[in-house]
Amino acid sequence: ARLKPEATTNMVCGFCSTGCGLKIHLRAGEAIGLSPQTSYPVNLGMACPKGWEALTVLDAPDRATTPLLRNASGQLEPVSWETAMQQFVGRMKSIQKEHGPHSVAFLSTGQIPTEEMALLGSLAKFGMGMLHGDGNTRQCMATAAVAYKQSFGFDAPPYTYADFEESDALVFVGSNPCIAHPIMWERVMRNRRSPEIIVIDPRMTETAMYASQHLAIKPKSDQSLLYGVARILIENGWLDESFIAASTEGFEEFARYVAAFDLPRVVSDTGLKPEQIERFAETIHQRKRASFWWTMGVNQSYQGTRTAQAIINLALMTGNIGKPGTGANSITGQCNAMGSRLFSNTTGLLGGRDFTKPEHRQQIADVLEIDAARIPTENSWAYHEIMEGILKGKIKGLWVICTNTAHSWINQNLAREMLDRLDFLVVQDMYHTTETARLAHLVLPAAGWGEKEGTFINSERRFGVIKKVRKAPGQALADFHIFKLIAHYWGCGDMFSMWTSPAAVFEIIKECSRGMPCDFTGMQDYGWLDAQGGVQWPCPSELEAPAQERRLFEDGKFFRENGKAMFYFEEPRPLSEPTNDGYPFILLTGRGTASQWHTQTRTGKSAVLRKLYPEKPFVEINPADARTLGLVQNEWITIESQRGRMLAMALFTPAVQPGQLFIPMHYEGTNQLTDAVFDPYSKQPSYKACAVRVTRG
Ligand code: SF4
Repeated sequence: ARLKPEATTNMVCGFCSTGCGLKIHLRAGEAIGLSPQTSYPVNLGMACPKGWEALTVLDAPDRATTPLLRNASGQLEPVSWETAMQQFVGRMKSIQKEHGPHSVAFLSTGQIPTEEMALLGSLAKFGMGMLHGDGNTRQCMATAAVAYKQSFGFDAPPYTYADFEESDALVFVGSNPCIAHPIMWERVMRNRRSPEIIVIDPRMTETAMYASQHLAIKPKSDQSLLYGVARILIENGWLDESFIAASTEGFEEFARYVAAFDLPRVVSDTGLKPEQIERFAETIHQRKRASFWWTMGVNQSYQGTRTAQAIINLALMTGNIGKPGTGANSITGQCNAMGSRLFSNTTGLLGGRDFTKPEHRQQIADVLEIDAARIPTENSWAYHEIMEGILKGKIKGLWVICTNTAHSWINQNLAREMLDRLDFLVVQDMYHTTETARLAHLVLPAAGWGEKEGTFINSERRFGVIKKVRKAPGQALADFHIFKLIAHYWGCGDMFSMWTSPAAVFEIIKECSRGMPCDFTGMQDYGWLDAQGGVQWPCPSELEAPAQERRLFEDGKFFRENGKAMFYFEEPRPLSEPTNDGYPFILLTGRGTASQWHTQTRTGKSAVLRKLYPEKPFVEINPADARTLGLVQNEWITIESQRGRMLAMALFTPAVQPGQLFIPMHYEGTNQLTDAVFDPYSKQPSYKACAVRVTRG
């Protein structure tokens, strides 16, 4: 018989960065079901399939329920937490003794609560003496973070979700919210202003199908297009000159630079028709409120930072920022990517500070009541530098928390070779079967979303609460408790005596934010956050009952020292791996469905979600190319790059242009093909386009 709930409680979803509010149905204090919250300001009663299935994936039979240690015959076997901790500490310390303190590193995640990230980053760097630690947010948001930091002076997405409904023209660049952020897309569908929807994407994505203008550019020509549109706006005087004068700098240099992006050049770079480019510019001018949204098509590029800034520049020059329905808006990926960006001690010091600034180190030392000398004075290596450090013999021990490097990292064969070379690989995860956990020397079983407490920060800077509504299976522990255990066994537990619970850490990180643009010292406790329906940063002390929807820069003041936003630009670079006779197709990768998440570590455990999406890999190919190759619909074909190969079923569709293929990132083989090139500023991998060939069978 169906169990009837006795009570409900609210919390936010733990998959994507939308941060939907879910109502958890409880019986005897345990979750037995869920439904979307109807009054939460983010999702207004909606949830996507992943959210509906969030509890199911906790029951998977391959949950890690006990620590596992690789034995002499190479098998992972169950051990006690005591043994696991002795092994962890003993082997990490002995590596540090032999090769130096920086020879061990960590790779973390945007999927655990902010409080856990802050504890991990502080334990690893201030307690264990590590210098190098990065997060999987390097794979999704590093570009946006760097672009904002340079242009605005702080990593600060300016928008609120109401902007989806209040815009007259929504420009999506390399973004497919229809499936990647389906609830945000529902907010677009609620827009009653008859907006123009402009999609810039080589592929006819689900979002592009709804667009009034789909600009199917050649892969990686977006930067050139955006500069060309800027030129048209300037030549026609379609500018907000008072905003440019009062709130920006560097416009004259930018205007001189983009004068070279005349129509013939942009047509040649992008493959678009002149009238498409002109209409795009006219639309931005004619529509009162234009908003610009970007996601991984921009971020995951060898020139992502400057492309993101080309978007930011359009918003700045037209004054489309700080007002309803506007903004240069990066949509985050993971549920707590924003927490990772600000409070994980990876790309920066706690609170969006800088490791290299003595005053910032002292501020954090004072809050944490530690010696400032314990805080590294230099930045960590980025993810790929840590991986390359393994090849160079500089990184010997690696601690991977809640991410699946062996599946998700670019150029997978090389990534696995790197992991294989480690003297000691520790994987801390909910599941012992991830591709990375299978390579580990030690697996630490972790509780998941719904089995622990804390806060996530969503794409629009909103703190939302997660709660413990289920017991973790077996001996699995909340990451928070694993970090505390490690601190104890490492011998630095005293340093974390104030860090008694996630709620206590919430107070600590509040203090870490004081005086920074992300100041949230005015927030009260988890119960207050819940009652408010989540709260966006900033929330300094004077804000007792903050409005539900707030955007940044309403006063035209930015976070750079002079209060002005800066125009950044640079010559676009050619495709990092163009086609040639041997590899005549460009492979595009991306999210394939609303029902799967990243490497399917969790969503692959739900029978419902698996039914909603092909379990066997498929590749989209244009029917004209399929005819030329003599392929049959649904036959297995081999896709091969210079780095690896994978089998996939051929799906004929005009969604991809001739000469292009598309494979979703959710399949294990996809990253056998991708090419390890990186943006020079954000060091984000360029997953989106590489050269491949197709053979039958
Ligand atoms: Fe969860 Fe994102 Fe789906 Fe909302 S849109 S239910 S946050 S996965």
